[in-house]
Amino acid sequence: MGLDYDGTLVEICSRPGDARLSRERRAVLRALLAHDEFLPVFISGRTIADLLLMLRLPPCWAVGDHGAVVRQPDGENHLLVAASKLHKLDCLRAMLTGVCSHDRMLWLENKMASVALHYRGVPAREAAVALARARKICRENFRRSIEIMPMKKVIEFIVPGVTKGRALAYVHRKMGGRMPVMYFGDDTTDYSAIEYAERHGRAVFVGPRNRTAASWRLPNPQSVYQLLRDLTE
Ligand SMILES: [Mg+2]
Repeated sequence: MGLDYDGTLVEICSRPGDARLSRERRAVLRALLAHDEFLPVFISGRTIADLLLMLRLPPCWAVGDHGAVVRQPDGENHLLVAASKLHKLDCLRAMLTGVCSHDRMLWLENKMASVALHYRGVPAREAAVALARARKICRENFRRSIEIMPMKKVIEFIVPGVTKGRALAYVHRKMGGRMPVMYFGDDTTDYSAIEYAERHGRAVFVGPRNRTAASWRLPNPQSVYQLLRDLTE
């Protein structure tokens, strides 16, 4: 069972550090981890360290950086991206810092296989100018080596080939590849995992309008917990 974090297990917050699990919700996830019939895999665009800090759960499968890093329950990490592809991100990071100097609500988050430009709280016109500048820098300098992925109040510049779907497939194969897959996600970076889950089971889109390949939809994180609670009780 693949579970996205932000927008799926917690409501989206303007500062990622504020998107914390309540005690009740963590108890549901603990029950899921302890359940014989489910193997939860937490899959996020956050770094592994950040994701594990937010979850504060017993040892479990976790995927960070949109699928670039897989952490086994025993603590062993697997990097799913070639190190040679990462140096261009460092160059882009340096170039994008200038874009953020005009508004203190614009900020860059550095991750293993991507750099995220956050603009929540920035006035619409200023945000549009900043985004256009950032896209132009990326297009003109890294046309083939870095992809642009617009998301909710954040735009990510990411190494091609790094997807949550690939990471979900990796964990599924490690588990023998026979058990049915279920995936819960709410955003563009989840589409690859939603498609994988639909080929090997079912996916649940979380949000008001489902335009994805997911067979099922739940309106918000609270409804995800209602379902998880029903499944584990
Ligand atoms: Mg999400």
